[in-house]
Amino acid sequence: MHERISRRDYLNSTLLASGSLLLGSVCPLELIAQNDWDGYGGIGDYSGSNGNTFEVMTEAHKIRDRVFEPLPTGVADSGETYDCIVVGGGISGLAAALFFKRKYPKGTCLVLENHAIFGGEARRNEFLVDGQRLIAHQGSAMIFPPLAGSFLEDFYNSIGIDTWPFPYQAWSGNDPEIPLGRTPYPDGAKTSGFFFGPKFGQAPGKWVTDPWGTKLAGAPISESARRELLGMREAGAARPRKLPERHGDAISRHLDSITLEQDLMETYGLSRETVRTFLSPVSGGGSGIGADALSAYAEYAADVLLPWDYAKGAQMFPGGNAGVARHIVRELIPDALPGPRTIEGICKSAVNFSALDRDSQPSRIRTRATAISVRHEGAPEKSEFVRIVYARGGKLESVRARSVIMAGGSWTTKHIVKGLPIAHRDAYAQFYRAPCMMANVAVRNWRFLYKLGISECQWFEGLGNYTAVRKMATFGPLAPTVSPDSPVVLTLKILFSSPGLPIGEQVTRGRAELISTPFREYERRIREQFTMLFSSVGFDSRRDIAGIILNRWGHAYLSAQPGFFFGTDGEPAPGEILRNNPHGRIAFANSDLTGIMDHRASILEAHRAVGQLSSRVEV
Ligand SMILES: Cc1cc2nc3c(=O)[nH]c(=O)nc-3n(C[C@H](O)[C@H](O)[C@H](O)COP(=O)(O)OP(=O)(O)OC[C@H]3O[C@@H](n4cnc5c(N)ncnc54)[C@H](O)[C@@H]3O)c2cc1C
Repeated sequence: MHERISRRDYLNSTLLASGSLLLGSVCPLELIAQNDWDGYGGIGDYSGSNGNTFEVMTEAHKIRDRVFEPLPTGVADSGETYDCIVVGGGISGLAAALFFKRKYPKGTCLVLENHAIFGGEARRNEFLVDGQRLIAHQGSAMIFPPLAGSFLEDFYNSIGIDTWPFPYQAWSGNDPEIPLGRTPYPDGAKTSGFFFGPKFGQAPGKWVTDPWGTKLAGAPISESARRELLGMREAGAARPRKLPERHGDAISRHLDSITLEQDLMETYGLSRETVRTFLSPVSGGGSGIGADALSAYAEYAADVLLPWDYAKGAQMFPGGNAGVARHIVRELIPDALPGPRTIEGICKSAVNFSALDRDSQPSRIRTRATAISVRHEGAPEKSEFVRIVYARGGKLESVRARSVIMAGGSWTTKHIVKGLPIAHRDAYAQFYRAPCMMANVAVRNWRFLYKLGISECQWFEGLGNYTAVRKMATFGPLAPTVSPDSPVVLTLKILFSSPGLPIGEQVTRGRAELISTPFREYERRIREQFTMLFSSVGFDSRRDIAGIILNRWGHAYLSAQPGFFFGTDGEPAPGEILRNNPHGRIAFANSDLTGIMDHRASILEAHRAVGQLSSRVEV
């Protein structure tokens, strides 16, 4: 119980997954219609903003397809000049705007965000099921209690997140209580289950509950796979392997020179087949693709660089790190979240969208605005301004800024910053972002899981890999208790890996699958998946599924290949080039620069970027 549980443990507790998922079923690439792309979007502030919406995706693809090169004539000059413009309104961009405001209280700052609401991957979905409001995360989920005295503790305190651990729902009803986790990740406890279906010769299917406690007894897998997986599990708990202690020590550098697949094979004696059949793509600290293409250090970097108060365990707002984004916005523009300045008030309050972008205020957030061109007026070293053009409502407008922070992520930044030096361009060419789809499935109750004696489960065929009932933090408009008869949201994280293919091909192939599969097809597959898993205990998808929201993330995870963290052939790491070298008046942020998909990296990168621009800002 007192063993240190790292961030890696949360992500990798989902130990097994289907490596062959979706292989061979890539649909022909065709543009699907808006309704089939977005599908149902839920209720509340985030209702029109599930994942990358059709509007955002089509506008962004015009950048990729160079539709704006050269810039069309007739771009309207808004006449506005800001001390700072931040491109991207995810946690990194919002944090940059807040750091800027705190450093230059009289300075003006505009955040340009292409979605209809701020937050980036930290947004939420809301359902109303049988009169109860349900909330789930769209992407970014867990928050990690900071170490006492750390920069992050100060930052969280400064925005009003100061309660660790969070308060959670209590058990209710007459059924004996079974433990529920606080995150969407199964932790392999006694009340977990593995499902084996037709892929393992089991029709209609077989459940193995408490798989680790029973040492996979009865699991229809080969003896060698069982031995290898149990060996890894036991070795992992005992931590015999020397872990990297410092970013840049010999172990971390070695790990960055090999793939995660090699490391798993060498460290735990796994066969390649076991890795590819059972561990891809969920292994790799949440990096989205096969372990064969990832740097082994991707598994460890977050825990080395971002240690936290492990004893308190990972926490989660009802809507995941949307809670963090909302707290930052409350500090930036208090009227935008008009409720009390308490965690509960900020989670519950409806967003006042009209307050985001008012002339009268120094900090502004302009949504539905896709930046398409960021160019210095004159030579970068001498120019006094950067001109930013953005698309909004079918029109192009331009604004000027004395400084710019690019927080939107590598996949758009590399296209829209004009005159980017070759070293920066080469660096961005080494960033691969894998797609992911988060499907939030609202069910009227979870008695079907309870009947199996489980609250979390994993499977190795079909769509997704795992799901878990979690008790929710009691901030926000949620029931204070939970029982097997409570409506809940079950989240499926759907990843697209093709082990064996080069990294670039894995992510492109996955994206093709993501963007060409209509909502109704995913809905059908989700219903089929749930039927395969749970019909034996009375689950009826028509009766029991109340709603499905899909969140398509075309460029979800930075997937770090070997060399990403420390460079190859004596060259600096790509992230270092961008972090250390602002381009004229333009600095670079976003979580992807560190190779760690974590909102804490987003915040730290924002802080560094604001500091780098101080000589360019004269407020
Ligand atoms: C599925 C998933 C699960 C995750 N789970 C966790 C977790 O549990 N805990 C955790 O800490 N982290 C998690 N993360 C990592 C997540 O990346 C970070 O937590 C954080 O939310 C990233 O914030 P960001 O601002 O760096 O990037 P983003 O959230 O990607 O924000 C960038 C924003 O800029 C916008 N943008 C891009 N280009 C432009 C443009 N040209 N013009 C205007 N806007 C633009 C984007 O659309 C986006 O809204 C997860 C990520 C994913 C994908």
